[in-house]
Amino acid sequence: MRILLCLFLSLFVFLNDILSQDGDVFMIKKIHDEALQNGHVYPWLTDLCVKHGGRIAGSDAYMGAAIFTKDILASLNGVKSSFQDCEANYWNRGDKNEVYMTDESGKLLPLNALSLGNSVGTSNEGIMAEVIEVKGLDDIEALGHNRVSGKIIFYNRPMDATSIRTFSAYGGAVDQRTYGPSKAGEYGAAAALVRSMTTNQDDFPHTGLTIYKDSVSKIPGLALSTNDANKLSKALKAGPVSVYINTNCKVEGLRSAPNVIGEIKGSEFPDEIILIGGHLDSWDVGQGAHDDGSGCVQAMEVLRIFTSLGYHPKRTIRVVLFSNEENGLAGGKTYAQFSNSNKEFHLAALESDSGGFSPKGFSFDADTSVFKTCYRHVSKWLPMLESYGLHFEKGGTGSDIGPLKSQKGLLIGLRTDSQRYFDFHHTANDSIEAVNRRELELGAAAMTSMIFLIDKYGIK
Ligand SMILES: [Zn+2]
Repeated sequence: MRILLCLFLSLFVFLNDILSQDGDVFMIKKIHDEALQNGHVYPWLTDLCVKHGGRIAGSDAYMGAAIFTKDILASLNGVKSSFQDCEANYWNRGDKNEVYMTDESGKLLPLNALSLGNSVGTSNEGIMAEVIEVKGLDDIEALGHNRVSGKIIFYNRPMDATSIRTFSAYGGAVDQRTYGPSKAGEYGAAAALVRSMTTNQDDFPHTGLTIYKDSVSKIPGLALSTNDANKLSKALKAGPVSVYINTNCKVEGLRSAPNVIGEIKGSEFPDEIILIGGHLDSWDVGQGAHDDGSGCVQAMEVLRIFTSLGYHPKRTIRVVLFSNEENGLAGGKTYAQFSNSNKEFHLAALESDSGGFSPKGFSFDADTSVFKTCYRHVSKWLPMLESYGLHFEKGGTGSDIGPLKSQKGLLIGLRTDSQRYFDFHHTANDSIEAVNRRELELGAAAMTSMIFLIDKYGIK
């Protein structure tokens, strides 16, 4: 009798699983249909880009974008939206950007270059100095103070074109931009030029953050387009070359740059928060379409899809559009501080910050004490998502949600087809024209499906 009862119970659980999986498959299909037939992501992104492009944290453009997105969130049924106070160190590019190299006859040829974020400018008269090409930070130490002093250091190690993972190629080269100017300054250089972080050959300089060591005197750092990096390198092989730089960028100090929050309270487990986010700030050049307007509108779309399908979450679903990811991470740090001091618990946090390209799946990360259990749990859902071309892997997720790792929930990153991401990253070319509507919508649908499953089943 007991055996029969056990068999009956197992059959019941098995059938129940099948039935609920059928329901989940149907819901995931409905989510995709809604995203692809009635999607709001593309018109939202168009407005965000065209009306509030160049949203560096602390700028008027950033505040405009914050009000714009907060109002959209407030217009969604059942969503409460708010600002979270945050201050960011505002960097202003200024209005002078003159960069020339000398040719063999001493004539000045213009170079496509842009100051790096947080860089200091030159003096009023500018800088004219001989250029030394290097492949990395170690070369500066090898050259020593005498040979570096007074020169313009030109970092010219390209991103590895053979790396299929473009983010790995970026990670392998970006130390030149982040720490190169500071290192050159430590050895007495007058300025630093850095080859742009892209495998593309074009005329767009790619800006991005540079960080100075406190003890070092700050020298100007600029990104140079890959075409002009090649041109400069070729000229240097023929003989000495000098470069003239005149810029007036500077850090102007702390300014208000709030995080934007939109939330639906959970009906059964309101204290279990599921965060979806992107970063609202961008660099000042370009419209910040792929980086990261796309992630912001996709996160907002998750709430819109839920409300339009009449789905009432059990857990609290919170959209967070972070401030200042690009030059300081003030938004992510401030959010985690508020959250920790309010004793909140984030069951999961999903960030989209790999561009609005076709989704390829999700990467997962968590504190080692919980990672195995969480990953095993979510892996059960993979068969339902594979038919949408989605895969799971372990790895990095998002800079803004990183500080939440100590709450021991699951961190998730949307993975995209990133082969073209670094064609646009941090350039004047990162505009709405670079984003494909359908690819953007598919990303939002993938995120909504994942959030739906986490909300329904939790992560145990
Ligand atoms: Zn980004």
